[in-house]
This record gives sequence, C-alpha cells and structure tokens, in this order.
Amino acid sequence: MFGFELNEEQETFRKTVEDFARGVVAPKAHEYDESGDFPYDVVAAMAEMGLFGLPFPEEYGGMGGDYFTLCLALEELARADSSVAITLEAGVSLGAMPVYRFGTEAQKQQWLPELCAGRSLAAFGLTEPGGGSDAGATRTTARLDDGEWVINGSKSFITNGGTDVTRLVTVTAVTGIGDGDRKEISSILVPVPASGFSVSKKYSKVGWHASDTRGLAFDDVRVPEANLLGEMGRGYANFLSILDEGRIAISAIAVGLAQACVDESVKYAAERRAFGHNIGAFQAIQFKIADMETRAHVARLAYYDAASRMLAGRPFKKQSAMAKLYSSEIAVTNAREATQIFGGYGFMNEYPVARHWRDSKVLEIGEGTSEVQRMLIARELGVR
Ligand SMILES: Cc1cc2nc3c(=O)[nH]c(=O)nc-3n(C[C@H](O)[C@H](O)[C@H](O)COP(=O)(O)OP(=O)(O)OC[C@H]3O[C@@H](n4cnc5c(N)ncnc54)[C@H](O)[C@@H]3O)c2cc1C
Repeated sequence: MFGFELNEEQETFRKTVEDFARGVVAPKAHEYDESGDFPYDVVAAMAEMGLFGLPFPEEYGGMGGDYFTLCLALEELARADSSVAITLEAGVSLGAMPVYRFGTEAQKQQWLPELCAGRSLAAFGLTEPGGGSDAGATRTTARLDDGEWVINGSKSFITNGGTDVTRLVTVTAVTGIGDGDRKEISSILVPVPASGFSVSKKYSKVGWHASDTRGLAFDDVRVPEANLLGEMGRGYANFLSILDEGRIAISAIAVGLAQACVDESVKYAAERRAFGHNIGAFQAIQFKIADMETRAHVARLAYYDAASRMLAGRPFKKQSAMAKLYSSEIAVTNAREATQIFGGYGFMNEYPVARHWRDSKVLEIGEGTSEVQRMLIARELGVR
C-alpha cells in the first residue's frame, strides 16, 4: 500500500463504528468508569454488530474482514472509551486469534463461532506474577497424565479473565525441558469454568476501570491432551507472534485516545473564557492542540503502515513495535496536555480528559513495555 487514504468500504465501516461509539459507548463511559462494572450491554451491542468476528473468515462465523479493519474499529472505540476498546482487542486479537492462527480444524470449529458471535470471551494467559517482560520465565506447568494435561500455576493481569461470559483461557505452561536445559513452553486451551481453576477479585486499577483484569490460579486443572494449541514447545514463540500483531491493535487504541484528547481540547478551547477571551485565542493553547493533532496523525500513519505490511505478508515486527512505542507514548503526552488545557476541571473525573489521562498510562505497559519495544526495535536493527 502506498498512501494512507481509507478506501470507500473502510471509510464507511469506520464511520459506522464512530457513530456507534458516539451514540452507544460514550454516553455510558463515565458511569462504567465510576462503577468499575464490566459493560455487558455495550459488549452485547458490539457483538450484535459483528465486531468480535471482524478479522475471521465467514466459515467460522466471522465477518471476513482483516486485521486493519479491526484496528479502525479499535481506534474509534477508544475515542469514546478505552475500557471498551481493550475488551474487544483482548477478546479478538489475544483471545480468539491464537485459536485461528494455531488451532486444529476441530479446535477452530469448536471455539471460533461462539467467540466471533461475542457470546463467549477468550483470555490470553501469558504474564505471571514473577514476570511479564520476561515471559519466557514461565513457572506454570502442564504434565500429561492418563490422556489429560494437569495444569498448575498462576497468571497475573489477565484481561477478560473473569467475566460472566469468559469461556476459554489460553495459557502458556512448561511442558518439559528441551535442549540445553531450556524450558519447553507450550500453549494449552483451558475451557472455563473448570475444577481447580479460580480467578482473583478484580484488581483496583488506575485506569481501564470497566475492563475485566484478573489473576488466574490453576490447581491441578485437567483438560484433554487434544487441547494442546499449536505444536508442542512452540507456545511461547506463538504467543510472541500474537503480540507482534497485538501491538498494532494497541497502537490503534492509543491513537484513538490521543485523538479524543484533541477532540475534547478543541471543544473546550472554544468554550472556556479567561481574560476576556476564549482560551483558544491564546497561542500557548493553540500550539498545544496543534502538537497534539500532529502527534495523533503521525501515530496513526505508523499503525497504518505496520498493518499494511502485515496484510501484505511482509516483515512487520519492527514497524509494529515502533507504532506501539510511539503511539502509546504520545497518547500519554496528549492526555497530559489535554488535562492541562482543562485546568482544574481536567483533574475532575467527570471530565473525559481525566479518564483518558488515567487510561493512557497502561498503553506504555501492556503487550510489552516501552523498554521492551525499544529492545525489539534495536534487535531488528542488529544492535545487540
Ligand atoms: C491492565 C493490564 C492488562 C493486562 N492484560 C494482560 C493479558 O490479557 N494477558 C497477559 O498475558 N498479560 C497481560 N498484562 C500484563 C502485561 O503484558 C505486563 O504487565 C507487561 O508485559 C510488563 O510485565 P510486568 O508487569 O511483569 O513488568 P516487568 O517485566 O517486571 O517490568 C518492570 C520494569 O522493568 C523493565 N524491564 C524489564 N525487563 C527489561 C529489560 N530487559 N531491559 C530494560 N527494562 C526492562 C520494564 O520495561 C518495566 O519498566 C496486562 C497488564 C495490565 C496492567
């Protein structure tokens, strides 16, 4: 792809999601942010629109779209509410995608129709209490016993891990020791609820209040041997490749948040008066907003580029890391600047910019911290 204009079909879709985000998601964002309740009604409405099946083929109940289309939806949803956007991102890109990419035909037939329909959510269990960036240090184990995997261990910070509609958790677990004493890590599908499986109460988080984030515990959880996802010993590598894609989706969410900060600031600058003028008349405010818009635009181009490479089957690891790094950092900057433009009101939770500020920080942490993105980019450049 050369040029970054959306085609007519993409623009129509983007507009449809924008209207949905404005009409259905935004009016409830503050209420859910305050209560911390999971937005089941909004999730059901997204399911009704087919958003959970966006990038999957119709034969599995999907919409037959692509990953870029998913990112367009995530950007528009995050302009209204990041908790809703991350619920969709984690459900599709982390939850269902591993089944689609690495599952057997039987596994796809079993799980994808209900995940695409949004009747069920799947969660991605990689991070453990002892390490997120160093996820290869997995301590969770799975051993075969009488035709079943017996899983023991725990996972932390798992998005969509404990909703009423969570039906599947895919976990990485040590299934043996390979060459040179390296841990052999595989991924296993765990249908939930299951005997021996438990979830912690929701974490008390700085942001993403309405997104469900839990610790998971596995105490002799037994699942059939056929629930191995992908090849034995490829679980860690497969999960990392899912994160390469997921970073484009997180970038899209970051761009949506960064753009929302511009939207709110433009409106407020025209309304708020000081010293006999709208504050938008002050060059200091104009420059802040101009910089915010520029950052959001450049970050958008970065994720469009990464998605375009991915869809063209070209290498995109460096581009997705750069898009995620840049857009998450500018989202934090835009949220800080928008809060500044709102003055004291920006510090009040009833104003969306305060929520955007709290929601922005985690973008520099989840699906690989900014430091991890810089490591990946340097490694791709051959700097070791
Ligand atoms: C709200 C939320 C939702 C999440 N959802 C999920 C999910 O659905 N599934 C899932 O598996 N995980 C999930 N995570 C986990 C997330 O991916 C991890 O928090 C993240 O990867 C960082 O891991 P950590 O928290 O263990 O930090 P650590 O890895 O302990 O890092 C601590 C600090 O050290 C830095 N650091 C670590 N190693 C290096 C290095 N080699 N060089 C330089 N700096 C380094 C990090 O960048 C960071 O600043 C979620 C996290 C949050 C907060």
